[in-house]
Amino acid sequence: MAMKKEWLFEEEHEMFRDSLRRWVAEELAPFADEWEEQGEFPMELYRRAGELGFFGGAMPETYGGVGGDFRYHTVFSEELAHSRSGGVSAGLGLHGFVALPAVAAFGNDEQKRRFLEPGIRGEKIGALAVTEPDTGSDVGGIRTKAVRDGDEYVINGSKMFITNGARADFYIVACKTDLERGYKGVSQILVEKGTPGFSVSRKLDKLGWRASDTAELAFDDVRVPVGNLLGEENRGFYQIMHGFQTERLVMAVGSVAAAQRCFDITMKYAKERKAFGRPIGTFQVNRHKFADMLTWIEAARRLTYHTIWLFINGLDCAKEIAMCKVYACETAVKVADMCIQIHGGYGYMMEYEVQRIWRDQRIQPIGGGTSEVQKEIIGRLLGL
Ligand SMILES: Cc1cc2nc3c(=O)[nH]c(=O)nc-3n(C[C@H](O)[C@H](O)[C@H](O)COP(=O)(O)OP(=O)(O)OC[C@H]3O[C@@H](n4cnc5c(N)ncnc54)[C@H](O)[C@@H]3O)c2cc1C
Repeated sequence: MAMKKEWLFEEEHEMFRDSLRRWVAEELAPFADEWEEQGEFPMELYRRAGELGFFGGAMPETYGGVGGDFRYHTVFSEELAHSRSGGVSAGLGLHGFVALPAVAAFGNDEQKRRFLEPGIRGEKIGALAVTEPDTGSDVGGIRTKAVRDGDEYVINGSKMFITNGARADFYIVACKTDLERGYKGVSQILVEKGTPGFSVSRKLDKLGWRASDTAELAFDDVRVPVGNLLGEENRGFYQIMHGFQTERLVMAVGSVAAAQRCFDITMKYAKERKAFGRPIGTFQVNRHKFADMLTWIEAARRLTYHTIWLFINGLDCAKEIAMCKVYACETAVKVADMCIQIHGGYGYMMEYEVQRIWRDQRIQPIGGGTSEVQKEIIGRLLGL
């Protein structure tokens, strides 16, 4: 029986963790280098994760999930950090932690049968398309529009930087359904792959997350039934902000886990690598770096776990979520950078994992709402 390691988790979460840990160690980590090199991981991974029940932890039982709370996402995100590929974590995570929860929260029964059920099984893959070439942080400023024509919406516009963009089966697309009302005119509409007028303009080349697909999408008179509206018309902005809460929390969790992994790898290296006749970790300057890094990681973890506790107990934690998003994501970049320095020249070599962790973590203070945007939220909630 698994030991209870952290106050936040129950026995059931630790059992979930054990099976995830085995899967990650046996079926993901050994192939990470190959997938990173190829620029994608096999589609089969979604199916396999679904088969093993990994997407269902925090999803409703009626549609094939376990009905648990956010702690299942937490455990999944923590264990994915050991896949050795941020791209794999991003692809599986965007589907499981972002697209499926949006359908679970706002979909009607018919939409849940169509997208959530097969999504939990890993048979239909989801993407969330909000960002556009000309606007990211300013969600209310999107220009993709959906105009009502009888029983259909006609969608025109484009989306940028969409994770799972080239390979998804369904897209939750943020559109303006009322052009006059700014953020109060945003709606979320489900668009399926293969709908005439929808195309993937290009797959984007990027610094990190190399095994995940990130794409630019085009919508050219795409017609979908009005029944594809997710949630309420013109309430899309609020729905997106609701989804951002869990996306940001799960990103903070992933960053803490990645920072800890980077720290552990580097500790091992610093004990083995010698300079001037002694292990490099014993130089006071490096010892202090390890002391600093562990303090930052622990502080990030404690803030994140505390916030998860507030969240699962239904307490107000908007400020804390923004705080963990900034602190944990920036800590991971800072730690990975320091770990490269401790590795010396080897830290700059592609065969050493610390460089990949740095490249993969560098997106974290940008994606899901930048650090600057989080600080604006904190400031506003402070009444400033
Ligand atoms: C690899 C990757 C995957 C992604 N996946 C997805 C996805 O699946 N779906 C999706 O919709 N999007 C996705 N994104 C987009 C991501 O969410 C945006 O890049 C991010 O929100 C920032 O938007 P932007 O790039 O347009 O930057 P901008 O909004 O143009 O911001 C540029 C700079 O200005 C700063 N800034 C902007 N507004 C303010 C302000 N009010 N106050 C202070 N500073 C400000 C920002 O902090 C930033 O430093 C992804 C991006 C990447 C790189």
